[in-house]
Amino acid sequence: MDEPCRLPSALDHFMCIECRLERKRVGLFLDYDGTLTPIVNRPELARLSRDMRRLLHEVGKVCKTAIISGRGLDDLVHLVRVDELYYAGSHGFDVLGPKGSGIRHEFGREFVPAIAGAYAELCAQLGAIDGVILENKKYSLSVHYRLVPEELVSRIDGTLDHVLASHPTLRRTYGKKVFEVRPRLDWHKGEAVRLIMRILGLNGKDAVAIYVGDDATDEDAFRSIAASGIGVLVADEPQPTAAIYRLKDSDEVGVFLARIAALLTGC
Ligand SMILES: [Mg+2]
Repeated sequence: MDEPCRLPSALDHFMCIECRLERKRVGLFLDYDGTLTPIVNRPELARLSRDMRRLLHEVGKVCKTAIISGRGLDDLVHLVRVDELYYAGSHGFDVLGPKGSGIRHEFGREFVPAIAGAYAELCAQLGAIDGVILENKKYSLSVHYRLVPEELVSRIDGTLDHVLASHPTLRRTYGKKVFEVRPRLDWHKGEAVRLIMRILGLNGKDAVAIYVGDDATDEDAFRSIAASGIGVLVADEPQPTAAIYRLKDSDEVGVFLARIAALLTGC
């Protein structure tokens, strides 16, 4: 991963992006939390604004657009509610095409019982800690600790280690104030991007992937498109990343989507 550096703004350098997209077919990939919505204390409070939903309709009409999130697929589809989009939930393990497309790919079904088992054990061992939010997302699970007092986080960390020791088919990854547990499979958001580009026939030299995301799990996607795509990190501080542009926050993501929609509508 690259050293932290101040990446060029995707808005200030939009003309460069415009040049990269000239006469290309575009696949647009967007993370949800912290990208389309601001980061909030509780996952259920991360609601898409009316403006952002309208923008997703607009970009969805002019280029193939997918939302890729650590959230469970049903939760993600329910929060976004834009029919023409592609969705990849649970970090790309659960992929769904637009209504009528017949596209549905699920990876790691054999791991679902282990996820359910680990979830039950974590509920029993961590449920009493104030502020812990546990989510079973079928192909992965989340332990949110944003609302947990700092001095209790190491207890959660240790409990998770202990539970995972009896589930060798699962592994832990890290997000913003959340521990994620997912199958020990070489599958992630970057593989989901490659899969969706392939499904859409966007794997030739005339295709470009744009990926916009804010979290550690989005780095897999930035790396997967590094050779020919455009990775855009959403962050207000420099941090190590494989992205090549940045946007400060979800407001800037909205401006960026509006420009992409206008650019591709004009083509
Ligand atoms: Mg995110």
